[in-house]
Amino acid sequence: MKLSCTAVSSPSITAPRSLEKSQPAKHRAAPPRPQAIDTFTPATPSKNTKGYNLTNRGGKVLTAPEFQPIYVGSYWRTPAGTADRAYNDAFAKELVTSNHQAILAQYGVGKGSTADSVMVKGASPKTFTHDDVVALVKQQIALGTVKDGPQTVHMVVLPPGTVLVDGNADSTQGLGGFHGSYVDAAGKSVYFGVVVTSDQTNGIQFDSNPRDNLSIIESHEFDEAATDPDVENGKLAWYNNKYGEIGDLAVNSGLVPLEQAYGKDSGGYAVQAEWSNKDGKFLIGK
Ligand SMILES: [Zn+2]
Repeated sequence: MKLSCTAVSSPSITAPRSLEKSQPAKHRAAPPRPQAIDTFTPATPSKNTKGYNLTNRGGKVLTAPEFQPIYVGSYWRTPAGTADRAYNDAFAKELVTSNHQAILAQYGVGKGSTADSVMVKGASPKTFTHDDVVALVKQQIALGTVKDGPQTVHMVVLPPGTVLVDGNADSTQGLGGFHGSYVDAAGKSVYFGVVVTSDQTNGIQFDSNPRDNLSIIESHEFDEAATDPDVENGKLAWYNNKYGEIGDLAVNSGLVPLEQAYGKDSGGYAVQAEWSNKDGKFLIGK
């Protein structure tokens, strides 16, 4: 789901921050479907005393998710942007093999991989919408510049200053990113995420390091794409009826203070904490 944040500053946060702001209908996960109850798969038994556990509604989980960063905007060609891009590429490679990935494995997600990142030609857009994301991924697939794998998660990375817009939500009001899918002409689902490069007025600032903010939001969207890829076009997979997808518990729903909602993983990159049914707590994957 979309990641948004409405109250970013106070260290003693009482207002929940959400990475994905209130959702327009097209992104809102469908309510659990009665027929899916038959396919309910209990997670490894745990106490679930807090009601945080995710249940599988019968949808698909990515058994071999492939993370492909797609950088939009001229910023990524500047010296600073080139360095940030290299850092983020390294993060993507690490994320899919790190201990953080072990959390996803608890939900049946298989070993991840990355595809080479891609830089899209052109200036940095002022705004970027859901339709823009879909159009971009379609365009790049048609051009053959990005993978068209069955489990590729095309992660569109916006440059500093570009405002992400989705329905009535935008990144100047705390939207940090979202993930989704579309069905191509051949009937295959194509997966994508989009993330904002955050600063004080755009996106979500977890800490003062823009690289950390980017990697945290990417981990949120990648984790959700892996555990609930078809949320927009198909059956829900791992989902909590009250709190949403895996990434939404710690951040969107504000169930833990923001300071506990992220941390450094085993490779030293900042990632979001995710709920573990098995362990009954939020884990970073240290
Ligand atoms: Zn989410």
